[in-house]
Amino acid sequence: MLFKDVMGDEALKRQLISMVKEHRISHALLFLAHEGAAGFALAVAFAQYISCQNRGEHDSCGVCSSCIKYEKLSHPDLHLLFPNSTSPQVKKDPDSEQFYTVFRDFAVKNHYFITLTDWLETIEGENKQPSINLRDTSNIMNWNSTRSYEGEYKIYILWMAERLHYAAAPRLLKTLEEPENKSLFILISESADTILPTILSRTQMIKIGKPDVALVIAKLTALFGITPSRARELAMSCDGNINNAIKLLQNNQSDNTMLVRFRKYWQSIHSFAQNKDRQEIDFQSACHAVDEVVKEGREYQKGFVRYLLRMVRLILLENSGAGLVKVSAAEQAVLNAFYGTLNVTNTTPIMQECNKALFHIERNGNTALILTDLYFKISGFLTGNRR
Ligand SMILES: [Zn+2]
Repeated sequence: MLFKDVMGDEALKRQLISMVKEHRISHALLFLAHEGAAGFALAVAFAQYISCQNRGEHDSCGVCSSCIKYEKLSHPDLHLLFPNSTSPQVKKDPDSEQFYTVFRDFAVKNHYFITLTDWLETIEGENKQPSINLRDTSNIMNWNSTRSYEGEYKIYILWMAERLHYAAAPRLLKTLEEPENKSLFILISESADTILPTILSRTQMIKIGKPDVALVIAKLTALFGITPSRARELAMSCDGNINNAIKLLQNNQSDNTMLVRFRKYWQSIHSFAQNKDRQEIDFQSACHAVDEVVKEGREYQKGFVRYLLRMVRLILLENSGAGLVKVSAAEQAVLNAFYGTLNVTNTTPIMQECNKALFHIERNGNTALILTDLYFKISGFLTGNRR
């Protein structure tokens, strides 16, 4: 991956390049990037630049033997670690090594725009809690005790570092506390709050912002050769998460499944809240709306609650007359239908309940209970009577 092919912040790329030129590379960096931003791509471009045998002023050469290996993510001094779990292919004692080829193909196929949900679907591990585990951090210690093969540095990229298992953390911590010469750790995370403070304090944080609409349009046009107007339509609906735009494009949809599910779910809650007299009859419909989400995996459920939060926020902004929000035509139609359901009084508690639900789903709570509770809480706030 060359810097020129990474979507995003040119100033940040220059900052990384000058770290290498001025020999100021910190042994542990934390790339904090939203889902669908270029966190993984930027980490690989940075690693490639460090290892390139013929570095240019602004980018890797792209043609030396190191760059060729990096293009395939197969450089022997590059180690990728990522959340993993047992799967139909790896039935016990999983670690990143066993999924390495699958992960490499997954990253390249998805143009380095990777999400945990898609990764878990790929390895069919969606209903498990994946982690970077003790076997992974033991592997790091073993690799770290040997010399690099070809380049100056051994480079470890830990994608979704917030998924480091608590039992595995002490070994990583020890490695970060006593760094071997010429070992570089790049941790990539979507949420610094969920990384252990002891690990956080030993890394230099680099924030990667959400790409703006113009950047997403340029990237979609370059990757898929679509018209600027189609790219614009997709970019408007993805809220800076290019993965969502790519999914819409690949499914040839102008709407998306999350939006459809949201519309049904909100319609059901609204109807339940309105029809107090027939709530017994509507109870089945309520259970059905919840079951539709519960039957999906935990990662999807978190994605759904996050989408719920996004839509509630959009309704609030629309109601306030802010009129600054960029949404797709399909989302706008749904927002139009639900304007009247929220007001300044009920929005805040609904968002708080959504955040609480996310917190408990993340911590392995019973998702059927959590999502059922969330449904009835929201319904209570819509009628103004908390149940
Ligand atoms: Zn090169």
